[in-house]
Amino acid sequence: MSITVFSHPACMQHQVTEIHPEEPARLSAINDQIIRSGLELAISQRDGTPATQEQLYHAHDVNYVNEIFNKAPTEGHVWLDPDTLMTPGSLQAALYAAGCGINAVDEVMQGENARAFCVVRPPGHHATHDQAMGFCIFNNIAVAATYAMANYDLERVAIIDFDVHHGNGTEDIFMGDERVLLCSSFQHPFYPDTGADTISPHIINSPMPAGTGGSEWRTEVKNRWLPAIDHFKPELILVSAGFDGHAEDDMGNFNLREEDYLWIAKRLKEMAERHCGGRVLAMLEGGYDHSSLGRSVVAFIKGLI
Ligand SMILES: [Zn+2]
Repeated sequence: MSITVFSHPACMQHQVTEIHPEEPARLSAINDQIIRSGLELAISQRDGTPATQEQLYHAHDVNYVNEIFNKAPTEGHVWLDPDTLMTPGSLQAALYAAGCGINAVDEVMQGENARAFCVVRPPGHHATHDQAMGFCIFNNIAVAATYAMANYDLERVAIIDFDVHHGNGTEDIFMGDERVLLCSSFQHPFYPDTGADTISPHIINSPMPAGTGGSEWRTEVKNRWLPAIDHFKPELILVSAGFDGHAEDDMGNFNLREEDYLWIAKRLKEMAERHCGGRVLAMLEGGYDHSSLGRSVVAFIKGLI
């Protein structure tokens, strides 16, 4: 058993002309590193298909989704929030990003591989039920989770988010949904300044100070996340895989390394093998230093194989 990696060229067509850290070259850096590492031979690569409006409605407000379709520019650009813009290719990129997650759910639930990774952009975990935010238009992992619960009758889905920023959008969407266990580590205080005060039996937030390194972070995961996942007995594990907590990534101030991403991938694979037939689906979130991003994705995928 290997892993299926979903992506699509449309994800390269979002904000191609603006100077912005969430840029198309991020995906090229990942693909280059997959080839350079020799991992290409061990994985199965597939083009995804776009999400439908109806699939987005499961995670987002209907009016919000329709508004994004209406705002999509045919030329120039439109700002959705101070950090998030749409250019002519953005709507298609966002639909393919969310759609790859849906393809990946089908793959891990009934395809040849129980594990999948989506190399997509724009990222998703800051997009709330009804708002674009922090480079995110649609909440890709939430769209995948709601699709999995609706189409495969799942009652327990775990979402693990180790991006350096709090996944406020995912928390917003699943705050009242006890079918979802959400574990999220993030630098605090830091953008978007949410999550540290959340009180919920099914949301485990791990706010950690600037300078947090692999050993403190692994201790937190071991002490709080892994026992919670074991207790929850997920039927599917989803991962918001952001790599901007890498020591070489200037977007945040964590000091994680490739070996930390390899480590958590192995732990999540073990949890999935114990509880849900090995099913783990990860989607790219942040990661803005191209070299460490590529190396980290390769390490994480190796850990899942
Ligand atoms: Zn981030």
